[in-house]
Amino acid sequence: MAWLGTNTSYDISAPPPRIEYKTMRELSDMMYGDIPMKNRTEILAVYSVKTDTIHLGDGFAVSDKQHQAILLHELTHHLQNKNNVKVRCSLLYEPEAYRLMKKWSEDSGIPYQGPGELTIQIRFSSCPEDD
Ligand SMILES: [Zn+2]
Repeated sequence: MAWLGTNTSYDISAPPPRIEYKTMRELSDMMYGDIPMKNRTEILAVYSVKTDTIHLGDGFAVSDKQHQAILLHELTHHLQNKNNVKVRCSLLYEPEAYRLMKKWSEDSGIPYQGPGELTIQIRFSSCPEDD
């Protein structure tokens, strides 16, 4: 959280999000709904705006730096929520979360495993209704 306070202009004084563990399958269902398994990618964490909760899959390992990078991504969504960042659709919350994840990974000396800048610009810079 302190790192996010230093690296963003967000007010980090709001209470931290709730943390709730789920099985990997529950988490996947939560994220993908009716989408068939073969079209899903594995996810470790999901932030829910409604309940201000980060749901972590039971495969999440606190000491794993790559997992910490994912947690940082979700904490970014928490701060966006608490700082009342408004965007036209939820996809537009992603570029900042991925860029901060990238910066944190670099600062921590681990390879960044999220989408590259080009992918971010293509996938997360317009809303479905723009098409
Ligand atoms: Zn995200």
